[in-house]
Amino acid sequence: PTHDQVLNFGAGPAKIPIEVLQTAQSELLNYDNTGMSVMELSHRGKTFGKILADAKQNLTKLLNIPDNYEILFMQGGGTTQFSAIVYNLLAAKGKPDAPVDYCVSGSWSQKASEEAKRLGANVNIVFNTKKSTGAYTSVPPQSEWKLSGSDAAYVYYCDNETVHGVEFNSIPDVDSSVPLVADMSSNILSRPFDVSKFGVIYAGAQKNIGPSGVTIVIIRKDLLTPLKSAAEIPASGLVTPQLLDFKTLADNDSLYNTPPTFAIYMSGLVFKHMLEKGGVEAYTEANDRKARKVYQVIDNSKIYKAPVATEARSRMNIPFRIYPETLEAEFLKGAEARNMVQLKGHRSVGGIRASIYNAMGEDGVDALVAYMKEFEGQHQA
Ligand code: PLP
Repeated sequence: PTHDQVLNFGAGPAKIPIEVLQTAQSELLNYDNTGMSVMELSHRGKTFGKILADAKQNLTKLLNIPDNYEILFMQGGGTTQFSAIVYNLLAAKGKPDAPVDYCVSGSWSQKASEEAKRLGANVNIVFNTKKSTGAYTSVPPQSEWKLSGSDAAYVYYCDNETVHGVEFNSIPDVDSSVPLVADMSSNILSRPFDVSKFGVIYAGAQKNIGPSGVTIVIIRKDLLTPLKSAAEIPASGLVTPQLLDFKTLADNDSLYNTPPTFAIYMSGLVFKHMLEKGGVEAYTEANDRKARKVYQVIDNSKIYKAPVATEARSRMNIPFRIYPETLEAEFLKGAEARNMVQLKGHRSVGGIRASIYNAMGEDGVDALVAYMKEFEGQHQA
């Protein structure tokens, strides 16, 4: 099958707009008359410098990023940020034993909280829905949260849990002196939001942006803290490794060492493409409609079931089960036969998961919905 025939519902690496891939293809052997591929350009040269500057400028436009924020392009994926956040924000707080608050609403925020613990931070669990309700299928009302207040070095949450399909429907309201940190790996650029409410936002590119290999970090400049030596910090385990240090990256415009140049270039193409399509506002309407269509089929069905509480349902990743569960393998097989791929749920939860990021068109969702209805018609109890 060709790229436009396959409907890729993968959670990440995920679908990239065909127009972007075609641009990359047309430029692959000769970028901007250099006679070189982007992959072959020096990261310190003028041509790549413009790619980097344009990517930053276009992301700034898309998210309306205020002047007092810095955009960093880092490596190591979302997982590296689990560690980087701990080091950088404890350094910014200047108190290695300050509490760090973690909202645990799914496996990614769980992993982030475990890493903070492993690094020796004083972790306070604000809530953990698996512990309190038995499953990651909701976000509790803020009245039930156990925040540390102004003592905290930061409050951490994952805006969209990719595996469990749990998404926050509003920005947490935390003490204004405490930086709010959000993992937006799987829903950045899916809806507009107020960047100024955050200390740090980060997102691996491989879901709603482009290829894997680059992580976007948006950080408020006053949180950039000079790197310290072990001698200056009693808990020397919290001395920030050089390449995880946000200030080192910021001071060097993400060019302290060789950055993932091709992934930055591809992300930049996606930013440009999104602006041409009307920016984040245009996508958010389509995303709401797309998700509504899928949940509607599930909610009107006797065989499909979405486990997540209505108000916490993700617009990006829609996990569901089919009953009896023996039908799930057959559903996936039928989907493959229709060129609908990567619909299998995460190995930790099973079932089905339809990831419908920005790059998944409404026609793709319509095709999925039609197949779901057809499948139910054939298997009604
Ligand atoms: N955070 C979220 C919300 C994710 O979905 C993922 C990966 O799927 C990660 C973090 C980890 O990202 P990476 O695989 O880039 O380390």
